[in-house]
Amino acid sequence: MTTILGCIADDFTGATDLAGLLARSGVRVSLRIGIPSEPPDETSPFEVIALKSRTAPVDQAVAEARAALAWLQRAGAQRFFWKYCSTFDSTPEGNIGPVAEALMAELGTEQTIYCPAFPENGRAIFMGNLFVGQQPLAESPMKDHPLTPMRDSNLLRLLAPQVTRPVGLADRLTVDKGADALRNALDEHARNGIAHVVVDAVADADLSVIAKACRHMPLMTGGSAVAMPLPALYLADGLLSADAPRMAVPQIPPHSVVLSGSCSAMTNRQVAAYLDTGAPAYQLDPLTLAQTGQEPVLDWLAGQDLGRAPLMYATADPDSVRATQKELGVAKAGEIIEKTLAACAVAARDAGARRIIVAGGETSGAVTQALGADRLDIGAEIAPGVPWTFCRSGGHHIALTLKSGNFGEATFFTDAQEVLNTQ
Ligand code: ADP
Repeated sequence: MTTILGCIADDFTGATDLAGLLARSGVRVSLRIGIPSEPPDETSPFEVIALKSRTAPVDQAVAEARAALAWLQRAGAQRFFWKYCSTFDSTPEGNIGPVAEALMAELGTEQTIYCPAFPENGRAIFMGNLFVGQQPLAESPMKDHPLTPMRDSNLLRLLAPQVTRPVGLADRLTVDKGADALRNALDEHARNGIAHVVVDAVADADLSVIAKACRHMPLMTGGSAVAMPLPALYLADGLLSADAPRMAVPQIPPHSVVLSGSCSAMTNRQVAAYLDTGAPAYQLDPLTLAQTGQEPVLDWLAGQDLGRAPLMYATADPDSVRATQKELGVAKAGEIIEKTLAACAVAARDAGARRIIVAGGETSGAVTQALGADRLDIGAEIAPGVPWTFCRSGGHHIALTLKSGNFGEATFFTDAQEVLNTQ
C-alpha cells in the first residue's frame, strides 16, 4: 500500500504518541525505530519514523531527517509531517527550525506551519505564545529542563533564531473564522515571503480547522494533535480509500510478562495496584544486581508461569532511588536496570511470552533494542498515547506496549491485558 503521509518524529515516545493518535482512525499505522536499513516494503498508509535527534548536533539532526524523508518518499508519500514536542523542546540552534527548513528545501515548498498545541494535554497556543496548562511555557517546569530549558513562551521568538527565512503568525482570531480564512491568511503570508507560520490553537476544534486548511501542504510541522484529523480528511478527499489497510488485530497467545523500569509517581501506583492483584512479582534492586549479576533474576523468571503475567520491577520511591543513585551513580544504576529488564524481555520471549508490557521511556528503548524490533504496527489504545503494538522478534509475532513515565491509569498493567483479551 502506498504511503499517504510520511511522518518524522524527533524522539521515540513522541513517535509512539503520534502513531497512536493517527491509529485512532482505524487505518494501519507503522512505526519504524530509526531509519529502516531496507527499502520500503509492505508499507502502511501512515508511516512514522522515530529518530533520536531532539538534542543531537544540528548537522546530524538535519542529515537524519533528510534520510528519513528519502525513505518515506520511496514509500510513495507526498505529504509529510515533522513531529516535535508539544513544549517545543529545542535550543536557539535547533533542531526544530533547521530540520523544517531542510525538509522544505528537499520538497521544494515555500511555506510550512508550526502547531505544537495539544489541548487534550493542556498545551495551547494563543497569539503565538505557548501555554502549559494555565502557565506560559517559560513559567512552566520546562524552564528548568536539563537539556532544553524553555525560557521564552513566544514561539515566533523561539523559532526565529533557528531559521533563515521570515517567521509569521496566523492567530486565533483567524483560525476561528474557519479553514478558508486560514488558507487565505497563509497565502497572504506566502506572498509576503513568510516561510514559517506559527498557528494558534487552544481547542480541538481549532486543530480541525488547521488540519483542513493545511492538509495539502507538502510539509506540516507540530505536536501530534494537529495530525489527528488528517486520516478522516484524507478519507473524505478520497486520497485514502475506505478499504485502506486497517489497524492490525493479530491473535497473540496470552503468555505475558510485565517489565517496569520507570520510577514515576504513576508507575509506582501502577506497580502497587498490580501487586494487589496477587500476580507473581520480583523486585529488582540495582545494588543487589551490582553484586550478583542477572542470574538470580533470570532464574526466578525461568520458574514462572507466564500465563499469570509475572511482574519484574525496579520501580521504587524517590528516596530509595536517590539512595541507590548516591551509591552507584545515576548512570550506572539506570544502566544495570535497563540491561537486566532487556535481558528479561528476551528470556521471557524465548520462554514463550508473546505479550510484553513495558513501563519507562528509557526502559522501552532498551527492551525494543534487545528484542530487535525495528517495525511496530500500531494496535488498540490502552490509555491516551499508549497503544499496543505488534512486531516480529526472534521469529515470533509479539505484542508490545511501551508506556512512558506518567501515562496510563493506576490499573494500567491489567488494563493492557484486558484490551488484548477483548479483541
Ligand atoms: P520514565 O519514563 O518514568 O522516565 P525511564 O525508563 O525513562 O522511565 O527512566 C527511569 C530510569 O530509572 C531508567 O534508566 C531506569 O533504569 C532507572 N531506574 C529504575 N529503577 C531504579 C532504581 N530502583 N534505582 C535507580 N534507578 C532506577
